[in-house]
Amino acid sequence: MIVVAIDGPSGVGKSTVGKALAASLGVPYLDTGAMYRAVGLLARRKGLALPITEADDAGALAEQAEILVTGSGGDVRTFLDGEDVSAEIREPEISRYASAVAAIPRVRRRLAARQRELALAGGGVLEGRDIGTRVVPEAAAKFFLTARPEVRARRRYEELVRKGTPQELVAVRAEMEARDAADSSRADSPLSCDGTYVVVDTSDLSAGEVVERLRQLVLGPGAG
Ligand code: C5P
Repeated sequence: MIVVAIDGPSGVGKSTVGKALAASLGVPYLDTGAMYRAVGLLARRKGLALPITEADDAGALAEQAEILVTGSGGDVRTFLDGEDVSAEIREPEISRYASAVAAIPRVRRRLAARQRELALAGGGVLEGRDIGTRVVPEAAAKFFLTARPEVRARRRYEELVRKGTPQELVAVRAEMEARDAADSSRADSPLSCDGTYVVVDTSDLSAGEVVERLRQLVLGPGAG
C-alpha cells in the first residue's frame, strides 16, 4: 500500500500535483484542506465571527458535521452534511475561516483522525500542512513543496482569474502570507518541515515536472 504525504504552504501547487500523482500511482487522493474549509464554512454559517477561539466550540461543529471529500483527477468534490460545497469552500473568506478553525485542537484531533483512518484503509496521496508530521508520520514518501512567495501569489491569482473571481495580486499575496504565518505559528501541528521530508522547490518547474520528480522518488529510478 502506498501512502504519500505532501505538505507545504498555500499556492505551492500541492493540489494540482497531488491529484496528478495519485492518478498516476492509481491510489486515492485526499485534499485535507477541503475538510478544514468545510468546517470553516460551517462556522461562518453558524454565525461565528473571526477570530475564532476555543470558546466558540468549533470542535463540536467538526465532530457533528459529516464531511466527505470524494473523487480524483479533475472531479474532486466536497460534501458537507450531504450538500455539495465544492465551490463555496474556495471563497477567500472561507480560506480565512478554514485557517482559524484549523488552529483549534479539537477540530484538528477530529479531522486528523479521520484522515489517518482513510490513509491506512486504502493508501493514497494526502495533501495538507501536517500530513507528514501528524496524520501519517510513518509514510514512506514525504514531500515538502516550496516556491518563492511571488510565484505562489501569482499562481493563486491566476487560479482566481480562471474561476471568474479575480482579486488584486497584492491583496492575494498579503492574504496568502497572513494565512501561511498563522498556519506556521499555531501551537497545534503547525506547518513545519524536518529531515524526514524531501523538499522540492516548484518555483521554476511545471506541474508535470514536479509530478514526474515525485513519482520517480516514490517508485524509485527506472519506474516507467
Ligand atoms: O490547503 P488549503 O489552502 O485548502 O487549506 C485551507 C486551510 O486549512 C489552511 O490554510 C490551513 O489552515 C488548514 N489546513 C491545515 N492542515 C491541513 C490542511 C489544511 O491546518 N492538513
